[in-house]
Amino acid sequence: MNHPLRLDSKLLAVPGIGPKRAQMLAARELLSVRDLLFYLPTRYRDWRTPQPVARCEPGTVVTLAGRLEGLSARPMRAAWGRRVIEGWLREESGQRVAVIWFNAPSYLYDALKAYGDVMLQGRLRQGTQGRPELHHPEVFSRQQAPGIVPEYTLGAELGQRLMRGLIARVLPAAVALPALVPAPLRAEAGLLAPAEAVRYLHQPPPQADLDALVAGTTPAHRTLALDELFAFDLALMMERSHARERSGISFDRPADLSARFLKGLPFTLTGAQQQAIAQLQADMTAPWPMNRLLLGDVGSGKTVVALWAVVRAIEHGYQAAVMAPTELLVEQHYQTFARLAGPLAIQAELLSGKLTASGREQVLERIARAEPMVIFGTQALIQHKVKLGRLGLAVIDEQHRFGVFDRLRLRALGPQADLLLLSATPIPRSLARVMLANLDVTPLDERPPGRAAVKTEIAAESQLEQVWARLRAEVDGKHQAYCILPLIEDEDQPELAVESAAQGLAQGPLAGLQVGIMHGRLGSAAKQEVMRRFRDGELAVLIATTVIEVGIDVPAASMMVVFAAERYGLAQLHQLRGRVGRGRQPSHCVLVISDKAGNSARARLQVLVEQDAGAEIAQADLQLRGPGDLFGIRQAGPLPLRFAGWLRDLKSIQTLRDLANRWLIADPDLRSVLSRGLRQAVEQMMARAADWEQFGGAG
Ligand code: ADP
Ligand code: MG
Repeated sequence: MNHPLRLDSKLLAVPGIGPKRAQMLAARELLSVRDLLFYLPTRYRDWRTPQPVARCEPGTVVTLAGRLEGLSARPMRAAWGRRVIEGWLREESGQRVAVIWFNAPSYLYDALKAYGDVMLQGRLRQGTQGRPELHHPEVFSRQQAPGIVPEYTLGAELGQRLMRGLIARVLPAAVALPALVPAPLRAEAGLLAPAEAVRYLHQPPPQADLDALVAGTTPAHRTLALDELFAFDLALMMERSHARERSGISFDRPADLSARFLKGLPFTLTGAQQQAIAQLQADMTAPWPMNRLLLGDVGSGKTVVALWAVVRAIEHGYQAAVMAPTELLVEQHYQTFARLAGPLAIQAELLSGKLTASGREQVLERIARAEPMVIFGTQALIQHKVKLGRLGLAVIDEQHRFGVFDRLRLRALGPQADLLLLSATPIPRSLARVMLANLDVTPLDERPPGRAAVKTEIAAESQLEQVWARLRAEVDGKHQAYCILPLIEDEDQPELAVESAAQGLAQGPLAGLQVGIMHGRLGSAAKQEVMRRFRDGELAVLIATTVIEVGIDVPAASMMVVFAAERYGLAQLHQLRGRVGRGRQPSHCVLVISDKAGNSARARLQVLVEQDAGAEIAQADLQLRGPGDLFGIRQAGPLPLRFAGWLRDLKSIQTLRDLANRWLIADPDLRSVLSRGLRQAVEQMMARAADWEQFGGAG
């Protein structure tokens, strides 16, 4: 070829891609050769070992071998130029399998006739008189039998064969893929060359381990994941060192309001809370912007620490913003603030979805006036370009629910402001060091005293009667309960949907109890009313989706029943169960496992029965589901990570951290020629972040 493809060549430059195909690919954000190289197969099919049809299960996808015979083709009436091709496959044993292709392009007939010995793959059907049949099998001539064949999501639109052909055409360009972990470290870390890794995944050799390919655990997967996370980690570390160069606000006046806030608290702070506050005070005094994450298990009392920081900023005449992922939680924080800081007469604004347009305008106006105050809101705070006149402190609760870029957008509202993030996502320490390398982390690892433990059990559907009896006993004892269901409305599974199940339960097992429902489709006012009634004890049972997962704090709730518990990740269930055990009474969490869930689901949930420390649970989740789930990588779209989710083991992550540290010592500014590809990748990640900062998250 005259013009070899480069990584950033447009896809139109690839032979076989015309404007129409290019458009289809662009719809998936595949614009360049690089994009296509990283468009990895989502499944693999095994063509290596054909089976005799006699040993195959009807209804399954089978791989057969033999000779094509008796082929005939007739035109399809409805589709001009298309044909129906029929014939049979004769296996070595003489057994015949009918084959048929409807709507076949005319060249297929000639190709099939020319093949002779073939391999076929397709779903095995029982034809008339129980004869085995294949409709539309995929076919290869025996000589070209492919071994392991990748399948692409786009193949459904473009055709798998075409997709594979296009990939084969761009693969040579992969040699130019930069090694992000620099060359001298790669062998030691067990990493392949990026080109080799990409080729392996698109064209796995016949001896490849199919299970590992499907599970995403081959060395090729590990290579792409580690390379990516390495660059990400370095970008975070650089962001952190840049942050130190920025000028911030020194909150250095003697304590007045903030001291009164602490004096007025209805409880004594735990040692961990006191240390956290001391740490925050030091951070806020420093002349650069704070970037601190308060990491504490559910119920460890993060809110009050954050509210102290809010008061501290306000006593310097600044504004503070508190952002949380749900309206419910925002409202709760607003009320907690009113309760704990009420006597200080600090102006507080709630930017709620409940506000009318004109009410909203008024709130925004007051905020823009730059008077000292605290503002509570959801993402709306950053999305609607709220003008904060004088932002001194931004708090993000449940920060794992927000993407990296949300944080940067918030920062854009007040470039000098201190940032305090709260999270209960229990993260194994070594992973935290990588994924949170741009933050200072304060653990909050002590629970407030007087909490009874939450006892967790697994129950089968057949044991529900006992579960309801237990729940009624809790309610009789003046306590409250949550029932968690996975769906809001669903005709096919009414028993798992809040709306329908609530009706059934109110007439059945929960008859006579005050029952409320809560889910994401309720209007904001309705949500708040239900929550108020539950908090005030007017409702005994709240039937809800996982909207109540984060942050909700109702100390009188002592029981939770989670239906279809096998559907959730362990860390998520741990968060959910953190809604109970907040008072002095012993609490129960019952994980109801569906009859159709397998034994492996039960074994997985057993971790929650045995473990009550978030970090251990997170570790188990990491191994089962990868770090993506822990950090919401999938939801967080703009996070520039695509492959990191494949890493399952802490050892790889530990290795990564060591490599990053060592490399930064060897080449602190990434100036050496060995760092060239890495520096580019890091700069791209940081530039993306900087764009957000500069334009306040435009778009
Ligand atoms: P989380 O860390 O999960 O956000 P919260 O901040 O909601 O936890 O606190 C959980 C509950 O514990 C709240 O009702 C809060 O008032 C209470 N709490 C916080 N700190 C203490 C303490 N030191 N002693 C007693 N109760 C506390
Ligand atoms: Mg909280």
